[in-house]
Amino acid sequence: MSTPDIAEQSGRASSAPETRSGALFGWLWRDYLGRHKLWLGIAVVFMAIEGSMLAAVSWIIGPMFDRVFIAGEPGALAWVGTAIAAIFLTRAVTSVIQRVILTRVSQRVAGQLRADLLRHLMTLDMAFHQRHPPGTLIERVQGDVGAINQVWTGIVLGLGRDAVAVVALFAVALSVDWRWTLIAMIGLPALMLPALAAQGFVRGRARTAREAAAAMSTRLDEVFHGIAPVKLNGLEEYQSRRYDALTETRVQAEVNAALGQATIPALIDIMAGIGFVAVLIFGAAEIAGGDKSVGEFMTFFSAMLLTFEPLRRLGNIAGLWQAAAASVERLFALFAEHPTLREAARPAAPPVGAPEIVFRDVHLSYGDLPALSGASFTARPGETTALVGASGAGKSTVFNLLTRLVEPQSGKIAIGGVPVGAMALADLRGLFSVVTQDAALFDESLRENILLAGGGRAADLDEVLTAAHVADFLPRLPAGLDSPAGPRGSNLSGGQRQRIAIARALLRDTAVLLLDEATSALDTRSEAIVQDALDRLAEGRTTLVIAHRLSTVRNADRIVVMDRGRVVDEGPHDDLIARGGLYADLYAMQFRDRSPISEGEGDPP
Ligand code: ADP
Repeated sequence: MSTPDIAEQSGRASSAPETRSGALFGWLWRDYLGRHKLWLGIAVVFMAIEGSMLAAVSWIIGPMFDRVFIAGEPGALAWVGTAIAAIFLTRAVTSVIQRVILTRVSQRVAGQLRADLLRHLMTLDMAFHQRHPPGTLIERVQGDVGAINQVWTGIVLGLGRDAVAVVALFAVALSVDWRWTLIAMIGLPALMLPALAAQGFVRGRARTAREAAAAMSTRLDEVFHGIAPVKLNGLEEYQSRRYDALTETRVQAEVNAALGQATIPALIDIMAGIGFVAVLIFGAAEIAGGDKSVGEFMTFFSAMLLTFEPLRRLGNIAGLWQAAAASVERLFALFAEHPTLREAARPAAPPVGAPEIVFRDVHLSYGDLPALSGASFTARPGETTALVGASGAGKSTVFNLLTRLVEPQSGKIAIGGVPVGAMALADLRGLFSVVTQDAALFDESLRENILLAGGGRAADLDEVLTAAHVADFLPRLPAGLDSPAGPRGSNLSGGQRQRIAIARALLRDTAVLLLDEATSALDTRSEAIVQDALDRLAEGRTTLVIAHRLSTVRNADRIVVMDRGRVVDEGPHDDLIARGGLYADLYAMQFRDRSPISEGEGDPP
């Protein structure tokens, strides 16, 4: 809830709430519900039959009293009894049929909406995803879509069944006595203003509740993804407290929203009570005087009684609508976001073979913070270029710019002579294989994880498994290559995950390789194995590596030394050492401190 963008979106959304609600639900109909209009129509017909059965019940009560009980007409019991049985049977059958159809349509609509939302969210910029943490987005895809689904089904059911029931019951009441009916409604005008006020209140509370729900999901996401740091830093209590505070906000908002929602049906109850007493006073004299039969009064009475429930539900719809409007607004705001990255209108062909990579005077700032301030370097075709520098120097930013996860403010970035912005995005990203320590593994089998990024050249799979040293550990897994990787690859060790990522990259067989050796250390043995796999992978490709291991740094063809967003030196290891600049300092320091760069390396420089 602390994120300013939520307030900003709510502000935008509420600038013209009425037209916006209309537009939003129009969109829901056009893009989603409209596709199912045939089934919805059929469901509504069954709902209408179900609803009108209430009127039939109240109507049959009249003859039941007058002809069966009071007059004792022969044969009346048989036909009244049959009619009552038929009415209830019809109601039961139509109710089941409409419920099944409605559920089917509503689940399909929700599924489609979620799928579209996911597809759309994946196209949005990294900047967007930084502003909207995963928990928030998960809550929108799951929670907000669910809330919308609940409300439109409620509205359809209300209009299809309850409104029909109310109108039909009303007709029955009118047919008995129009004056009684008018008297019964005397409280109605008094209902309007409080009902409107309650609606506005519900909408506000519902929005707060949805925001709190999103913030709670974000928290859970942070805790479960960072469970180890939470434990190690003793943050359990802290995290629980923050979660409790959000829970409290949500509980308050939900209770208040429920209160607001319940107000409208409650007002209907009060109004009905007043109308009822008025009819009783007025009607008692007429019945005693013989102007009206007991049966007529009973029909009227039961019609009134039976109206309450559907009327209350209809009153509830207004509240539901307000609650869902908050969710629809938020979803609409997400759909209104567009990627800022522009695809070239007439894309250039991507380079063929291992290309040269050139950065010329590239500037990039995140807000006011410069990440690259005029970085220039060249990575030669087919060679391995190591990026070295302190944390925050801008090494990862170089990767992000190459793959166009972010766009530079100025400067030139070209691959094989083609500016990155000139290529189609899919072609550009198709040039790279990226291997990082937190190898992007998904909760699928290892086979699936390896094959998913490649051209699916399954014939070469065995070769690849051997080269990446995946074959070494497969026999120890329960189902070999078909063992599950676990969420984010949690069933595997760090070294195993990396070897899977290398196998994937080998199969993908791209001309450029981007390696990010994270500092979290592999043990010496797995490092040697991973290194061997990486060496094979790098063969014949232009490789850029964010280097932390001494072996990588020393064996690289060229080293690019970065410092605070600039390239301060460039050259082979020996030249850089001989020059005695920043690189020599870094190198000496890292060896001396045995910091992560030197772990697992025995030989002194
Ligand atoms: P390195 O990989 O060398 O550690 P990075 O390229 O990750 O450095 O970061 C360079 C600078 O840009 C750092 O000061 C970092 O804080 C900043 N930075 C990186 N990514 C973001 C981001 N998404 N938003 C804001 N600042 C960022």
